[in-house]
Amino acid sequence: MATTALERQPTALAETASQTMCAAVVHDFAEPLRLDEVPMPVAGAGEIVVRIEASGLCHTDIHAAHGDWPVKPTLPFTPGHEGVGIVEQVGRGVTEVAVGDRVAIPWLGYACGTCEYCVSGWETLCLEQKNMGYSLDGSFADYVKAYGRYVVKVPEGVDPIDAAPLTCAGVTTYKAIKVAGTRPSDLVAVFGVGGLGHLAIQYAAIAGGRVIAVDVVDEKLELAEELGAEFVVNASRRDPVEAIRELGGADQAIALAVSPTSFEQAYASLRRGGTLVFVALPAENHIELPIFETVLNGITVVGSIVGTRVDLREVFELHAAGKTRVIRETRSFSEVNEAIAEVEAGKVPARIVFTPELSG
Ligand SMILES: [Zn+2]
Ligand SMILES: [Zn+2]
Repeated sequence: MATTALERQPTALAETASQTMCAAVVHDFAEPLRLDEVPMPVAGAGEIVVRIEASGLCHTDIHAAHGDWPVKPTLPFTPGHEGVGIVEQVGRGVTEVAVGDRVAIPWLGYACGTCEYCVSGWETLCLEQKNMGYSLDGSFADYVKAYGRYVVKVPEGVDPIDAAPLTCAGVTTYKAIKVAGTRPSDLVAVFGVGGLGHLAIQYAAIAGGRVIAVDVVDEKLELAEELGAEFVVNASRRDPVEAIRELGGADQAIALAVSPTSFEQAYASLRRGGTLVFVALPAENHIELPIFETVLNGITVVGSIVGTRVDLREVFELHAAGKTRVIRETRSFSEVNEAIAEVEAGKVPARIVFTPELSG
């Protein structure tokens, strides 16, 4: 349905307003998503409309669709915050992008631009922020409306299907490695090799780190080795803390698995002066950490949330230069519920990317 919309050329605003498109919509947190025919968005002042070419499925979309978090999206809404596509409309006052540009539309859909966080390079902490696929309709649709100032151009030579996972999984792990402060020769323990982990391994290696990857699935650990992990541990067979300590302990540990136990193992694997970066958001919200060892060993524990527009530009720059590989599989929007089930069952090697071209 609505695939004909994809062949249309850019249209005048008045014409577009009466047209419809296809979107994967959440109507009820306890129900599957529905593919609906909805009105085409129209760009207002400062806004753009993007024809989606690719949209990655992030775990956050699944939490949004299930209403898992304390602040829930207002129903009905369209998830998706790894949208990549071509700008087809620009509203009044948009100077950052033009019709025909390929852009990425990340989680940070809007920030105020003037608060102390926004002006100090921490726009991701802005209290006024709006998020794609959560408080704003996201990219599980043929078209999406976005703020022109908060999208990031995708450089020439980057496949839009690669660009989609980079827009959240990529920038999130890139930022986590920056926050970790990885330097050449540091031992970096990456806990969880999936959509995020497979990219974290590559960014840690780019920063000069020596990587040890931890997971419970052998195929994922093989992938980790292919992507540059020097050491791997299957935590279902061997205590990862012991394995990492044998190597002298981790300078940094990146917690990407949605398991509090894995966070505690990541902490325990650190050497003195080490840094633990919290990234994953397990449903179980608490872990136990010892105060005494944290103080005496000079441990840093830090949270890292997505990344800024500058971080995303750097992620794209690295990919365009051939420094990273994105492991992904494509599906059509009509398979959205099956795709969510696959991710929940842990059956997906890394990332699923929806491509509307295939929907029908
Ligand atoms: Zn995400
Ligand atoms: Zn702000």
